[in-house]
Amino acid sequence: MRKPIVAGNWKMNKTVADALKLVDGIKQQLKDESKVDVVLCPPFTALAAVGEAIKGTKIDLGAQNMHAEKSGAFTGEVAADMIRELGCHYVILGHSERRQYFKESDEIVNKKAKAALAAGLIPIVCVGELLADREGGKTEAVVGTQVRGSLAGLSANDMLKTVIAYEPVWAIGTGKTASPAQAQEVHAFIRKVLKEMFDETVAQSVRIQYGGSVKASNAKELFGQPDIDGGLIGGAALEAQSFIDIVRGAL
Ligand code: PEP
Repeated sequence: MRKPIVAGNWKMNKTVADALKLVDGIKQQLKDESKVDVVLCPPFTALAAVGEAIKGTKIDLGAQNMHAEKSGAFTGEVAADMIRELGCHYVILGHSERRQYFKESDEIVNKKAKAALAAGLIPIVCVGELLADREGGKTEAVVGTQVRGSLAGLSANDMLKTVIAYEPVWAIGTGKTASPAQAQEVHAFIRKVLKEMFDETVAQSVRIQYGGSVKASNAKELFGQPDIDGGLIGGAALEAQSFIDIVRGAL
């Protein structure tokens, strides 16, 4: 039985003061949602403060990115141990914005995933096709290549800890959501790829989130699909009520 996981990706939003207000709102309303893993991924600058604010709650902390190297001359970057030290248990890797604006390839995402796991972090590895891929009938080819490349060489044990987020790029921040059937089809396909790469146990155990314009109004139906295990939420995670309503959609 896979436990759903709902993560809020705040992207480059929220000063420390704003982040604390949002966490406060979430803490006040989150009661006993222990059937869902709830993860907040603020920008690096707010990790320490949010980590402190969620101490003693069941909410987990995640970063939005990290570098694959342990240390060194990589100006502006942060390493796995640094975010781990701030209380992160999760790290989002290979988000489509990282792939698009920062040219992150599957190979880079793969190195980061290995470094994250070695540091005791749970990677949330994002994959997803562009609109042109979907329209050209290439969704499975693109997503399959991303899954194989980003997760190459992981042990079955490491794969069991890893979370995948399927985020069709055309649905991120656009208000266009994949229909539950469209999302389910790709999630089932990802499990097929995992079975080929690892085995049936891994394929059936790995949690696969859906991301892309998830809102309170569509969360329940999306999360109710057999191969969808919660969501990675962008815009709707920036406001306490909508995020909580989405978390409840995974119950
Ligand atoms: C995201 O950035 O991971 C995301 C899914 O964004 P949104 O929910 O705003 O589409």
